Amino acid sequence: TTERPRPLVAGNWKMNGTRAATETFSAILEGYDAGLRSKVDLLVCAPATLTYVFAVAAVGTPVKVGGQDCHAATHGAHTGDLSAAMLADVGASYVIVGHSERRTDHRETDEMVKAKARAAITAGLTPIVCVGETREERDAGRALAVVGAQLAGSMPEEAAREPVVVAYEPVWAIGTGLTPTVVDVAEMHGFIRQSLVDRFGAAGRNMRLLYGGSVKPGNARELLGVAEVDGALVGGASLVAEDFLAIARAY
Ligand code: PGA
Repeated sequence: TTERPRPLVAGNWKMNGTRAATETFSAILEGYDAGLRSKVDLLVCAPATLTYVFAVAAVGTPVKVGGQDCHAATHGAHTGDLSAAMLADVGASYVIVGHSERRTDHRETDEMVKAKARAAITAGLTPIVCVGETREERDAGRALAVVGAQLAGSMPEEAAREPVVVAYEPVWAIGTGLTPTVVDVAEMHGFIRQSLVDRFGAAGRNMRLLYGGSVKPGNARELLGVAEVDGALVGGASLVAEDFLAIARAY
């Protein structure tokens, strides 16, 4: 009953990387040795232009490739967008949905994020649903309420039956070098776990909860050691193979 989900360390490359970065990805593939494989799953969410390139490079390895967003529709007149099926078609197995940068830059609402997560599941992808409070919301004592509302609005009903990953990323910790205390992470992840169990039962207990926001080799052991933290969503540090692997080695 106390068995934990296998941890996942996921890289979010954001809008970084050209084909030359395939070298970095190859170094990640090579560094994912037997020791690491026995302990942790590894995923790189590439920019759209590199998804296929990385997926081809990863063939025959256990490293997974994912997208950073998908449209809620299956196809059609949505210039510039990608469907979940398109990502699956080129070899992706995960997709991030509802990252705070999408919620801000593209005004994505919980309802839109839920529709994207559902589209991902339908296409056979595992969505990574992102939630997290702003500094102002935390300072006002509203962090749990804000994240609770985001979860309620963004998690699709299908999460009771299909694999879904949740990433808690406090907005103020993303790309800032700031991180919450382990006490705050424990409180939030405990709260998220309880919310998921209340809503999805056993599936909620086994769902992987990632922490994201300024995860680095120097703080990975501390953050990933917190109760109910089943892995990390790593931005900046995932662009450097050695740093990304060092974070995975925290396990
Ligand atoms: P960061 O980004 O690790 O650079 O803070 C995390 C994220 O936005 O997923």
